Amino acid sequence: MSSDLPDTPTHCVAIVGGAVAGAEVAAHLADHGVISVVIEQNPRPYGKIEDGLPRWHHALREKEYGRIRENLSRPRVHYLPSTRVGKDVDFAELSAGWGFSAVVLACGAWKDRSLPIEGAEQFVGKGLVYQNPFVIWFNHKEEASYDGPVFETPDGGIVVGGGLASIDVAKILMLESVQAKLVERGLEIDLIDLELKGIPKTLAAHGLAYEDLGLEGCTIFYRRGLDDMPLVSPPDDPDLCTPERMEKVKKSRRRLLEKATNKYRFEVVSNSAPDALIVEDDRLVGLIFRRTRIEGGRVIPTDETFEKRGSCVISSIGSIPEPIRGIDMKGELFEFTDWDLGRLEAFPNVFSVGNVVTGKGNVAASRKHASHIAEDALEVFLGVDDEDDRDADPVNAASERARRTAREIARELIDIEPASPERVAEIFEKVRARQRAVGYTGDLATWLEKVTPA
Ligand SMILES: Cc1cc2nc3c(=O)[nH]c(=O)nc-3n(C[C@H](O)[C@H](O)[C@H](O)COP(=O)(O)OP(=O)(O)OC[C@H]3O[C@@H](n4cnc5c(N)ncnc54)[C@H](O)[C@@H]3O)c2cc1C
Repeated sequence: MSSDLPDTPTHCVAIVGGAVAGAEVAAHLADHGVISVVIEQNPRPYGKIEDGLPRWHHALREKEYGRIRENLSRPRVHYLPSTRVGKDVDFAELSAGWGFSAVVLACGAWKDRSLPIEGAEQFVGKGLVYQNPFVIWFNHKEEASYDGPVFETPDGGIVVGGGLASIDVAKILMLESVQAKLVERGLEIDLIDLELKGIPKTLAAHGLAYEDLGLEGCTIFYRRGLDDMPLVSPPDDPDLCTPERMEKVKKSRRRLLEKATNKYRFEVVSNSAPDALIVEDDRLVGLIFRRTRIEGGRVIPTDETFEKRGSCVISSIGSIPEPIRGIDMKGELFEFTDWDLGRLEAFPNVFSVGNVVTGKGNVAASRKHASHIAEDALEVFLGVDDEDDRDADPVNAASERARRTAREIARELIDIEPASPERVAEIFEKVRARQRAVGYTGDLATWLEKVTPA
């Protein structure tokens, strides 16, 4: 048996997903003497921080990368990269056959919820774009090794959505369009700098106004009212949701949105739900929207429709978990029997944590796992904070929530029999065979150096 494996019975846990939630759970369990194997589909373990948070958040990304690396570098934490559970490793086999005491799903929410119009899917790549691959492209397009789908950012785009992610998409479209216009005028402006200073201020420094650029700009279409945009959450406790408190929440939402639209010049049209496709020459060229009204918190479609043509349609209406073969789904979610610990009926030793449970757009789960991003941290997300003060930590809520769940998982392990040294050795035979197959030598720092894109 390898010398770093225990010679007394020890819990050994597989964690699927190595980003914020997975790394927090691994670190917490390690501190309690538990061995964990963190199985990550990508070479790098940074998840949404690398691929969902637009790259202008570079300071926040570096800080979170550091925290994830630190968590994964603890003794008793073993990293298994480039391994997708459900494809490279069978989920049922992992949870029932490998001998782990428990499996923790920390695999996030990476599937875009489908644009709710029949026939829309056939236009993906022909006018219709989904938010997750779009942001991944934006974050990685300048890396020599990027080989994923390539997107354009034409002026006059339509964004369907209403949450933080749709604002990120609108910002990307606006920043890229303005940057391109400035290049036409012989002005090379760094996009990160443009995001930080905002469009009007940057243009003013060159004696220009936004109107001089002749851009149409992009527009977010949101099915609820502007006050309803889920930027600031109401309190979890319904007793605290007094009319005064709700008015404050709405006011904060309006204030943040106004700051964002002023700084990045995109527009938002409320009470408009996508209803039908406008197709020409086998390409999606726009959408028919149906006006809505909100009654008792519900979206009520009206008889009024309007047409909006655009250079592209980007759908940003929520991310849900990617199905994993072997796990039952209920609609677009995993069929959890216990939402607090993300438990599955068919696999009593499985727990779940992070976005895989709370995935944005997953209303029921979000309510149970409600986490509030502090308003200053939200400003950082939106880019409408004070330029000189980007210290607020929006990811902290996610880490804290993962630590809380990890504590409960550690308590649940008390009732599960730890693995004998022989069983741990058998598990590690499989883990090391796979590590060898993907070229991982067991040293996280060396590996990350090798797989960091140039
Ligand atoms: C637009 C935006 C909005 C946000 N909103 C909030 C918010 O409202 N509240 C909040 O607390 N935080 C929010 N955050 C902050 C924070 O980024 C996320 O909460 C947190 O990063 C999610 O971490 P996670 O580990 O659960 O998921 P991810 O970061 O998605 O990590 C999952 C990991 O699992 C891996 N994986 C997926 N499937 C498999 C598989 N089958 N096998 C192996 N590996 C797999 C992925 O590659 C990934 O590395 C937001 C971030 C962004 C970008």
